[in-house]
Amino acid sequence: MIRINELSLPLDHSADELRQAIVKRLNISDADLLNFTVFKRSYDARKKNSVILFIYIIDLEARDEAAILARFADDHNVRPAPDTNYYPVGQAPANLSERPLVVGFGPCGLFAALLLAQMGFKPIVLERGKDVRSRTKDTWALWRKKVLTPESNVQFGEGGAGLFSDGKLYSQIKDPKFYARKVVHEFVRAGAPAEIMYVSKPHIGTFRLTGVVSTMREEIIALGGEVRFESKVTDLVINDGQLEGVVLASGETIKSRHVVLALGHSSRDTVRMLHRQGVFIEAKPFAIGFRIEHPQGMIDQARLGKYAGHPELGAADYKLVYHAKNGRAVYSFCMCPGGTVVAATSEPGRVVTNGMSQYSRNERNANAGIVVGINPEQDFPGDPLAGVELQERLESRAYELGGSDYCAPAQLVGDFIRGVPSTAFGEVEPSYKPGVRLGDLAPSLPEYAIEAIREALPAFGKQIRGFDRADAVLTGIETRTSSPVRITRDNETLQSLNLRGLYPAGEGAGYAGGILSAGVDGIKVAEALAKSMLAEVEHT
Ligand code: FAD
Repeated sequence: MIRINELSLPLDHSADELRQAIVKRLNISDADLLNFTVFKRSYDARKKNSVILFIYIIDLEARDEAAILARFADDHNVRPAPDTNYYPVGQAPANLSERPLVVGFGPCGLFAALLLAQMGFKPIVLERGKDVRSRTKDTWALWRKKVLTPESNVQFGEGGAGLFSDGKLYSQIKDPKFYARKVVHEFVRAGAPAEIMYVSKPHIGTFRLTGVVSTMREEIIALGGEVRFESKVTDLVINDGQLEGVVLASGETIKSRHVVLALGHSSRDTVRMLHRQGVFIEAKPFAIGFRIEHPQGMIDQARLGKYAGHPELGAADYKLVYHAKNGRAVYSFCMCPGGTVVAATSEPGRVVTNGMSQYSRNERNANAGIVVGINPEQDFPGDPLAGVELQERLESRAYELGGSDYCAPAQLVGDFIRGVPSTAFGEVEPSYKPGVRLGDLAPSLPEYAIEAIREALPAFGKQIRGFDRADAVLTGIETRTSSPVRITRDNETLQSLNLRGLYPAGEGAGYAGGILSAGVDGIKVAEALAKSMLAEVEHT
């Protein structure tokens, strides 16, 4: 197998033109090209007014590959293709009596459970929320009727926090073993669009993700696993530094010496329980800020120029960073092209925002978090849970500023920069449901964050024309950008540093920052757990 990097073609090329470009690049005859697949397709729109081309990475099989590679020995863009297939680390013996537990059925728990099931370990999944269908109903009740169900919402339930999302599937993690490819491949097997295997910034969108997640659940069950909803873990059974089981809210105890803990970043009661039980936890940096909304057409125009609206490119995205004079970094977070801002609280009396979109990304507005990085040393020193408490305080204040009925506080960018409350919308209509309350966002975040965002918005306006337009809308607040704690684990065994048998994983434990990286961490932890169980079997 040969890999060609950096093969460029015009946006409107045909399938045959791609084949011909490969043949020409390698200087072989058409008959010698046996087959090929697109490993990755990207485009570069960073240079204004230049021609936008697709840039391909192609994996191919050809006659006499050795001779071709020898001819291109000095060309670093023609190389043997790496093996990106996934190979399981082991297989459970049929008579294994212990079953591993997976707590949490977000992307991390989903992949941990799937991998364990595929290796024959018959995991039991414990998820505090409900299945996709019931959960969707409960989540819409908050958005439409201002009714929050604390155990079934945007954060909790089958599919985890990533279910009502943009379904962006990219990450900057190092991935030498191609685990991300395994994640994407499993999504495609479960019904996600095939193009997510190769486009450079793939996304699934909320609607499709719900179907994919329930198909994957069916596979886990078909392989002997079990998925229990409305099963909140409220305590741990510990004996001499070894985890021996978990206790559910119902009072039931389930025994196992191997437990994946994939809680997500919003399970504050469970984190407090872990802290009480003495499990090592430390505070970690995260970010706070607002969601900003602009017309998607404006972003398309600024980013793609004459290519704005091109069907092959879709709705444009952006990524922005600014270093403020007070030393704070302000950056865009979880940008959702053609999407909506959503109410993402899991707790009564609190308001927090996030963003989502459908696969088509054809809503009127673009939205993104505009957030300021904060860290324990400077901003919430002392207790490991001080970051959790800070989030809670800010989210409660946002609830009050929004009118204490789950509407979110909002302000127009022009007014925010000038420091005056907003009273009326301009052209940009906010998408947040159940609604926003215009006013002054300054009291919603610490002063250093307000100052840094005020300075950053005009600077972003220089990079994306119109970004600081007076009628763009800021909706508050964004606090759950990542977990405020890390549940520390050993680098080799991936078990808690002071509780054997506990495998902290995914975003809540501080080892992932999105759907893809959470899925990858689920695979890593499943492998570590499988190796440990197999080693114990060998010793008995
Ligand atoms: P989670 O997905 O949070 O899952 C944790 C699960 O554990 C939950 O289902 C929860 O109910 C369960 N749980 C918690 N405590 C217990 C307990 N005690 N007992 C039993 N079960 C428990 N990321 C992207 O990469 N791309 C995006 O486009 C994107 N958009 C997003 C949009 C929104 C609205 C939100 C909220 C998040 C978005 N994210 C996105 C972030 C992404 O969803 C998370 O990074 C990812 O879901 C983390 O996966 P996880 O499995 O570690 O945790």
